[in-house]
Amino acid sequence: MSLSSTGFDTILQGGTLIDPATKRNGRFDIGITDGKIIAIEPDLSASEAKDRIDVTGKIVTAGMIDTHAHVYQYVTGKFGLNPDLVGVRSGVTTLVDQGGPSCMTLGGFRKFLAETSKSRVLCYLSCYLVGGMEGHLYPELHGPSGVNVEHTARIANANKDIVKGIKAHAEIGGASRWGLEIIRLGKEIARKTDLPLYIHLGQMWPSLEEGDVPNADELIEALVPLMDAGDVLSHPFTRHPGGFVSKETGEVHPIVFEAIDRGVLVDVGHGSHFSFEMAKQVLDAGVRPFTLGADLHGYNVTVPTDDLSLEERSTNIFAGSAPFNLTIAMTELITLGMTLEDVVATVTSNPAKLLHMEDEIGSLQTGREADISVLEIMEGRFKLLDNSGVEVITDKLVRPKFCLRGGEKFEANSPFIPDPIYA
Ligand SMILES: [Zn+2]
Repeated sequence: MSLSSTGFDTILQGGTLIDPATKRNGRFDIGITDGKIIAIEPDLSASEAKDRIDVTGKIVTAGMIDTHAHVYQYVTGKFGLNPDLVGVRSGVTTLVDQGGPSCMTLGGFRKFLAETSKSRVLCYLSCYLVGGMEGHLYPELHGPSGVNVEHTARIANANKDIVKGIKAHAEIGGASRWGLEIIRLGKEIARKTDLPLYIHLGQMWPSLEEGDVPNADELIEALVPLMDAGDVLSHPFTRHPGGFVSKETGEVHPIVFEAIDRGVLVDVGHGSHFSFEMAKQVLDAGVRPFTLGADLHGYNVTVPTDDLSLEERSTNIFAGSAPFNLTIAMTELITLGMTLEDVVATVTSNPAKLLHMEDEIGSLQTGREADISVLEIMEGRFKLLDNSGVEVITDKLVRPKFCLRGGEKFEANSPFIPDPIYA
C-alpha cells in the first residue's frame, strides 16, 4: 500500500508549526494515516487526503502536556475533575495527576481513569498513604505516620508506565506540625524508585497555633538542600506565603538560584496560586519555568454538575475567582515577556523530558502517534485577572481549537475553557 495511491487519512494544512524539540517554527503541513504522523512537509496541498483540515492562521504544536492535573475523579471527592474535560476537550492530550492516587488507590486510577480516558493519563504518586483525598483537606492525615516508604516505592516501581514521579508538600502548616520529615520520606521514596520528587510550595494547611511556627524563608532554606537535579519546585508565583519571593526581603530568595543551578526544575502549577506581581518579579530576576502545569481542581474551577456549596468553596484556601486554564497560563507568560516558542516548550518538549518520554511525546515527528494540539491566538484587547485583584491587559489570547490523539479529533469545547474577557 503506497501513500501515493491511497493518500493520507488526514492532512492538517496551512498551520504554523512550533516544535521546540526539532526547532521547527514555520509553515508545515502534517499528513496522518492510521493515527500516526507520516509526513511533515512545507506543502502537502498536492497530496490526496480523505480529510483535509484547514488550520491556516493557527498554531500547531505537539499534543500539550499538563504537568499539574487533579483528575482522580470520584475517588478524590470534589477535588478530582473529569480527565477528558481537563484533557482532550481542552486541547491537552496528556495529563499528569499530581498526587491524587497513592500506593493504595493506584489500581483504581489505572483501571477507571488511565485505561478509559481519551486523554493520556499519568501521575506523580502521592507520598501519603491517603493520597490527595478532597485536596488534602485534613492535615492530620498527611503527617509522617501516614507515609509508608516501602509500600509506596514498591507500587511506584511496579507501575512506571503511569507513575512518573513522587508528590509531597513543603509548606508552613505541615512544617509547624512535623518539620520537613515528609520531604525526607518523599525523597527516600524518590531514591528507591529513581523518580523525581515534586514539591508543592506555598501555605496549604493552617499553622498550629502553639509551638514553633517556622517562617517561610527558613523553610525553603531547609528544603532546597534536600532536593536533587531533576526534582521539581512548584507554585513559584504563589500569592500564599512560602513561594520564591521572600516575605522578609521582598526579593527572590537566593537559595532558589542555587537550586536552579544544581538542576532543580520549576513548574508553574498555576491554580489559584498565581500572582502577576510575584510572577513578574520572579521572571524579571531571570528564573524561567521549565514546565507550566494548570493545576485545575474542583475547588478552583466551577464544575458543571457539582453540588459544592458556595460556603464550602469560598472557605477553601485554594478558592479563587480569576478564570484560568492551561492556555490562560500560556497567555500570561507571553504577556509577562516570555516568547511564544519558549512557552510552547513548557507544555510540550520540556514536560516530555520531565516524564522521560521525549522519544514518544512532546514533539511532532514522523513515525510518532498523531498527538497534536491546534491553538488559536486571538488578537484584540483582553483582560487577565489574578486572585490578588490585579488586572492585566493583553493583546494576544491563546485558546485551544482542537487536538488529535492517535489521529482522533477532539474539539476544544470543555466548560473549563474560560471565555475571553474583552477589555
Ligand atoms: Zn495542585
